[in-house]
Amino acid sequence: MRPWVPLHRQLFSISTVVLACVAVGVLVDGVAPGAGPAEMPLWLVLVAMAVFMLVNSGLIAVVVAVSTPGAGPATLFGPPDENVLELGMLCMGALIVLVLALNPPVLVLVLLPLHVVLRAALIRPLEAAASTDGKTGLLNAAAWVAEAERTLAGTQGTERATGVLILDLDHFKAVNDTHGHAVGDHVLSAVAGVLRGVVRAHDLVGRMGGEEFVVLPRRAPDGARSVELDSVELEVVAERIRVLIADLRLEVPTLRGPLPITGLTVSIGGAVAAEGGSDLASLLQAADTALYAAKRAGRNAVRVAVVSEATATATSPAQLMPERAPVERVTD
Ligand code: GH3
Ligand code: MG
Ligand code: MG
Repeated sequence: MRPWVPLHRQLFSISTVVLACVAVGVLVDGVAPGAGPAEMPLWLVLVAMAVFMLVNSGLIAVVVAVSTPGAGPATLFGPPDENVLELGMLCMGALIVLVLALNPPVLVLVLLPLHVVLRAALIRPLEAAASTDGKTGLLNAAAWVAEAERTLAGTQGTERATGVLILDLDHFKAVNDTHGHAVGDHVLSAVAGVLRGVVRAHDLVGRMGGEEFVVLPRRAPDGARSVELDSVELEVVAERIRVLIADLRLEVPTLRGPLPITGLTVSIGGAVAAEGGSDLASLLQAADTALYAAKRAGRNAVRVAVVSEATATATSPAQLMPERAPVERVTD
């Protein structure tokens, strides 16, 4: 039951499976009435599997053909690897039925490896694809937020966060307007490469969407933690990124040969949690405000603010501990 799939499509999917089972039932009862799974000849099992696939895929193909005139075989019957997977699953089903009939406890030896193999071969790559931003290979927004929240909640075990950075490329629209969207995409991917190179392996880097990136540096929980140290550390990372982007010289391959791109800059807003910690939403809000300050200060700049628990619950994230003089510096 997948809520995003319309009810009529769910009913149709269920119907195709039920009808395929009914067809197999009619076949098996006709050929070998009353035979248990263990007495069934192999050829009958194979024919039953073929009938199941034919009925199931055939019904789907009919509907696809009606709704998509001119559809080719790949659209009608799905890609070959999906059909091979379906066949593999049917083989597994036949095996499970046989084991159940002969010696049910042995089922553990089938189900355990099946589970492990499915996780490794199917689910893990799907999970990785679902958490990756296709354009840059970084974490996508949802995956970054989930992972950052785990770190901040302290459930990540050996690591803690020093703070968050939000980066926004300056005048990126001009890159698109001058050179086209494809070149813009190439620049985004190059910027992602810079970020990956700057941060340590366990820091979290993500693309929030558009030309906006987020970084959550993670450290071992040492005794020497102080807000001042954290904000200095965060600022050092941000400053390193800012300089590297400003120095970036790209050669973007285009139809008319390599196109040199220089003069890119980025504005960076950071937020560090004061003693007592802070939740991700407050940190991101504070970093966003700091980013806005960096933009207003002329761009190509870094601003880092400290957010306390008190300001975390305040309605306006702009009230970032003014009495504390947030560690804030514009670097040009
Ligand atoms: P600012 O310095 O104020 O940030 O200026 P800006 O032009 O970077 O900001 P703005 O938000 O006005 O424009 C962001 C642009 O980013 C708009 C859009 O054309 C571009 N953009 C967003 N997502 C993508 C993408 O996936 N690929 C490409 N090539 N461009 C994108
Ligand atoms: Mg933006
Ligand atoms: Mg921008």
